[in-house]
Amino acid sequence: MRLIFLGPPGSGKGTQAKLLAERLGVPAISTGDMLRDAVRRGTPLGRRAQAIMDAGELVPDDVVIGLVRERIALPDAAKGFLLDGFPRTIEQAEALDRILRGNAAPLDGVINLLVPEGTLLERLLGRAALEGRSDDRRETVAERLRIYREKTAPLVQHYRDLGLLTDVDGSGSIDEVAGRIDRALVRPARAAGRA
Ligand code: AMP
Repeated sequence: MRLIFLGPPGSGKGTQAKLLAERLGVPAISTGDMLRDAVRRGTPLGRRAQAIMDAGELVPDDVVIGLVRERIALPDAAKGFLLDGFPRTIEQAEALDRILRGNAAPLDGVINLLVPEGTLLERLLGRAALEGRSDDRRETVAERLRIYREKTAPLVQHYRDLGLLTDVDGSGSIDEVAGRIDRALVRPARAAGRA
C-alpha cells in the first residue's frame, strides 16, 4: 500500500499517518520529522533547513525530493509506505511520480484530510503550547497556512484529476478520523482491482 496523506498543517495527517502505518505494517515517512531530526543533530542539512522551517516557508524541492528518494529506497519501504507532508508542491508530486514509475510501484491513493480553518488554528496553537514546536507560533502558523493554500492546495485537484484522491472529514477525535480513513481505504483499493 503506497499512500499520500494530504491536508493543511494541523489537519492531523502526521498523527493519522503514524496510526495507519502501524495498522498496515508499513513505515510512515514524514519529511517534517526527517528535517526536524536533521536540525536536532545539527547536520549541514539541518543548519540549512532550520531558519526556513522557523519562518514557516518550504525547504527547497530538490532537498526534500532527495530525502524521500533515499528513504523509499530502504528495504522497509519495499512493500509500501505512507507519505506525510510530502509532496507539498506540484514539482515534488511530479518527482515522486517519476521515482515511483522508475520502481514500477504506483501510488494506491491519496487521503485528503478536510478540517475547518478555525479548528486548524486551535490545534496548531494548542500544539505550540504542548510540544513547543518552534514553527507553531501564531505568525508562523499563519504563514504555513498561506503557503499551504498557495503551493500545496493545488495538489488536491492534481490528484483528483488522476482519480487517486479520497476526501476524508478530519474533524472530531483521533479515533473517529482513523475510522473514516479505514472506510475510505476500501474504495481506492477496489477501484484499482486490488481489494
Ligand atoms: P510538517 O511537520 O510536515 O508540518 O513540516 C514542518 C516544516 O518542514 C514545514 O513547514 C517546512 O518548512 C518543512 N517541510 C516538511 N516537508 C516539506 C516538503 N515536502 N517540502 C518543503 N518543506 C517541507
